[in-house]
Amino acid sequence: MNQHLAFEASFASAPDRFPARQAVLVEPGHLELREVAPPRPGPDEVLIRVKCALTCGTDLKTFRRGHPMWKLPSPFGHEFSGVVVECGDRVTAFKPGDALMAAPTAPCGICFYCHRGQENLCATVMERMIHGAYADYLLIPAHVLGCNAFHKPPELPFEEAALLEPLACVVHAQSQARPEKHETALIVGAGPFGLLHMLALRASGVREIAVAGRGQERLRWAAEIGADVVIDTRGADAEGQIAKLNGGFGPDLVIECTGQVDGWNDALKRARRGGRVVLFGGCAPGTKLELDTRRMHYDNLSLMSPFHFRPRDVRRAYEMLASRAFGAGAVITHRRPLADLEEIFSILERGAVLKCAVIP
Ligand SMILES: [Zn+2]
Ligand SMILES: [Zn+2]
Repeated sequence: MNQHLAFEASFASAPDRFPARQAVLVEPGHLELREVAPPRPGPDEVLIRVKCALTCGTDLKTFRRGHPMWKLPSPFGHEFSGVVVECGDRVTAFKPGDALMAAPTAPCGICFYCHRGQENLCATVMERMIHGAYADYLLIPAHVLGCNAFHKPPELPFEEAALLEPLACVVHAQSQARPEKHETALIVGAGPFGLLHMLALRASGVREIAVAGRGQERLRWAAEIGADVVIDTRGADAEGQIAKLNGGFGPDLVIECTGQVDGWNDALKRARRGGRVVLFGGCAPGTKLELDTRRMHYDNLSLMSPFHFRPRDVRRAYEMLASRAFGAGAVITHRRPLADLEEIFSILERGAVLKCAVIP
């Protein structure tokens, strides 16, 4: 039986799988769970049964205000893992039944930026991004399958495998930041990205890691996962606590993960003389930053604002997740069924969640 027929047969024997559910972001603040026919993979594509999709800060921002790079209405969700249910005729790397984890994008490999090793800036990387992981089924297109897709190790839970994309962003940022073992790092923002950064710094042996953020629950999670110092930025003595870091010199490395202009300004203020500032969280379109030129120059600050990731970062993130020693699963604090998606986003708005695993 060829694979198309096998697929039809499996649907025929399980009619409850058809039609399938697909979350669509109709406009900011308005999600719909629609019934759709699962797409049929082309010759170089596969269809997966989604086992887990994770909520992401980018999704929350897009839910609130749309996204400059994506048109609405759009299928929604981009962090996922699943099991292959149907393969195109030319696919040899995967077969039905294989567990798959993938990033939602892959570069073209032939544009100006790809040729310079900056595949994160590839001319087509964002427009060809996979959207639609909050669904029963998801099509994995050829460019992703051929570059940023992996067989999920059997011992790695599906929900941790779905962390491949956010961890690849973190790996990319830290490859620019080059943390050293003797350093003190400050992470501004105790959300999922802040804590993934913390785990990655921990894994590279950084001596002291402080996390500054808001929300008691988030700060408690940060401490539980392994922050050496936790600073409540709404507390009376936040600035004093930050100034005391690193023997009173201030942090060598500051990683900004709030995506707010205030957070960017704070990050710039807090780095020590000669320090490095990673502006990781993208801010709303149209926002501007004012720089103190004196401080920039005479305090010799280095600024980095890494965006997205390259295939080498995805591979490294895959290795970190596969090793299981990394403990990335700690940032998944909630699990809910796909049917609850609207409610999940209202819980995310309140901030009492790091990442929620959405289970179809
Ligand atoms: Zn994401
Ligand atoms: Zn390219």
